[in-house]
Amino acid sequence: EKYKVAMERKRLHNLVLDLKGNIRVFVRVRPINPKEQAHEVPGEPTCDFKDDNQAGIFDEQKQSRKWYEFDQVFSPSSMQAQVFEEAKPLATSVLDGFNVCIFAYGQTGSGKTHTMAGPSSDPGLNTRVLRELFRIRDERKGEYDIKFSMSVTARSPTTSTHEAEAHGRRWARADRSEIYNEIIRDLLAPSAKKLDVKLNADGSCSVPGLSAHDVSKLDDVLTCIDSAQKNRAVASTDMNSESSRSHSIVTVRTENTFKGDKTYVGKINLIDLAGSENTGKSGVSGQGMKEAQNINKSLSALGDVIQSLVARNPHTPYRNSKLTMMLKDSLGGNSKTLMIVCCSPAQYNVSEPSRGRLSLYLPAGETMSSLNFASRARNVELGKAKRNTA
Ligand code: ADP
Ligand code: MG
Repeated sequence: EKYKVAMERKRLHNLVLDLKGNIRVFVRVRPINPKEQAHEVPGEPTCDFKDDNQAGIFDEQKQSRKWYEFDQVFSPSSMQAQVFEEAKPLATSVLDGFNVCIFAYGQTGSGKTHTMAGPSSDPGLNTRVLRELFRIRDERKGEYDIKFSMSVTARSPTTSTHEAEAHGRRWARADRSEIYNEIIRDLLAPSAKKLDVKLNADGSCSVPGLSAHDVSKLDDVLTCIDSAQKNRAVASTDMNSESSRSHSIVTVRTENTFKGDKTYVGKINLIDLAGSENTGKSGVSGQGMKEAQNINKSLSALGDVIQSLVARNPHTPYRNSKLTMMLKDSLGGNSKTLMIVCCSPAQYNVSEPSRGRLSLYLPAGETMSSLNFASRARNVELGKAKRNTA
């Protein structure tokens, strides 16, 4: 009974959110690791959880707990499948012709890649959402006798919708790029060529020259993502040897025509951002420092854009970084956007003052600032999402 009430509450809540059209924000706190555990201060637990949408963080310095409310909060015991369950309706939205964006934000080591990509034994949102996309496609094809062709849409000026239709194939298109040192690279066709992002008159953006790959089944997309992963720039620092210092964006486009109906064009961006920590803590210098500053530049540009959208400023500084240009229609435009903020559960990572107390491999002090950022992002009103037709 209690479960039913909770589900109904959630359904109504989602309905309101859909009407309001705000950025949805989930928070996921990962399990504590042995290094962190060894340094935990006895007493108050660092993270506490209420209902399924509140997180309370205890600040050892201030001896107080600050509570935050989000659209959904996942505690350390949450499974990949639970996170997916909450994001699942977005897959239907893509095939209905909406723009969808899911992005992971948080300090290095907080669980972004685990949540988005995940280990192959227990994959994250990328695989699960895309699998759902193909599942719905097959379901619609069969049960409703709807002519369902997923076809390529033009992102670069060299690919046209007409070509796609002429081939009469059934696929979606996947592309993947990363933003690294404010340079956009095509991860599926690595070359020295620098790509640029262009804002179009209709508010969308395009990256001329970015390669597009036709996909007709889940495996095709996963193969693309896999080879892109191998091409992704990874520089090791003393923060986390596997720390990825670039943002990565996987985009899948779909186009489907229902019998006697319009053709709907959907798009999903799956984004794994670089770590949100400050440069000072990473101990990098030289080339590494340049990278860190650039990561900072685009992430702080992201913060500025969100700040500006919340304040409803007439001018939003999208052009300050490539990342914000690429995210323009996901942040201020016609999109259903979900931000997943990842956090460490350790006291060490709670807030700035604890920085330097310990020398762990993780950058400290990001949990509070990540959650404050997430709270602001939750106030961003998107334009009412519309179905795109060809
Ligand atoms: P990020 O991408 O934010 O730098 P990762 O996703 O690589 O962080 O996570 C850091 C480490 O913590 C990895 O070893 C990862 O397997 C582990 N981890 C993160 N989130 C979870 C989780 N929810 N459950 C189990 N392990 C996790
Ligand atoms: Mg990562």
